[in-house]
Amino acid sequence: MAGENIFLTNIQRFSLHDGPGIRTTVFLKGCPLHCPWCSNPENVYGNDGKYCTPEKLLREILRDKIFYDGDIRGGVTFSGGEPLLQIDSLVPVLEALKSENVHTSVETCLYVSRKNLDTAMKYIDLFHADMKIMNAEGALRILGGDYGLYLRNLDALMSARNDVIVRIPVIGGYTDSAENIESVKKILAQYAGSIQRVDLIKGHNLGASKYRKLGLDEPCCMGVSDELMLKYERDISGLGLTAEICRI
Ligand code: SF4
Repeated sequence: MAGENIFLTNIQRFSLHDGPGIRTTVFLKGCPLHCPWCSNPENVYGNDGKYCTPEKLLREILRDKIFYDGDIRGGVTFSGGEPLLQIDSLVPVLEALKSENVHTSVETCLYVSRKNLDTAMKYIDLFHADMKIMNAEGALRILGGDYGLYLRNLDALMSARNDVIVRIPVIGGYTDSAENIESVKKILAQYAGSIQRVDLIKGHNLGASKYRKLGLDEPCCMGVSDELMLKYERDISGLGLTAEICRI
């Protein structure tokens, strides 16, 4: 199996929160954004991680194959960081997983080149796609990303799929403003036919110790009230979509 090495930080087995069934989650290093609330800074900052050949990664993944064939079909989730940054290196692994009939999913911020997204859409079964700060000025200033690129990728993904899981981090002072929530709802309504479910992720400080370990300032993650989360959930349900509040 030819191919570039893959830069990753961790392989987490028996995960129940990263897609359907029991999953093996591969955390890839590197991200184009710097969300102030990121709970996985070890996948974004610094040089810690390991390079892995496609053959070795495939072997590691297939060790869990027996768990992918349960009543709810499990599989592999590529997370990060931003896994689509390394999609070309992952292609040999994804081709092999397809031939082994292993379900694949990806957790992406969509701030990647269209070429990388197109490659991912060729191989990945299920997309978890983020909606964070929904305006160009805020996306650039707070996340460090090009909102136009994000919107174009979102449109391409939603036009191609009918089962996207949208992930919305609800973070005090960043994504919880009435204006941002209205923008999210407008976009959700526009693509309702392409969305399987909306996960509302309540802000937390679980990653704080990781920042200290990396010698970084702690994340400024401000919580939001349960009332706001419940109202957000109801509003999204009102669009005819399934919404779930996640506390992980
Ligand atoms: S896109 Fe995800 S991994 Fe990247 S900085 Fe934001 S929260 Fe962290």
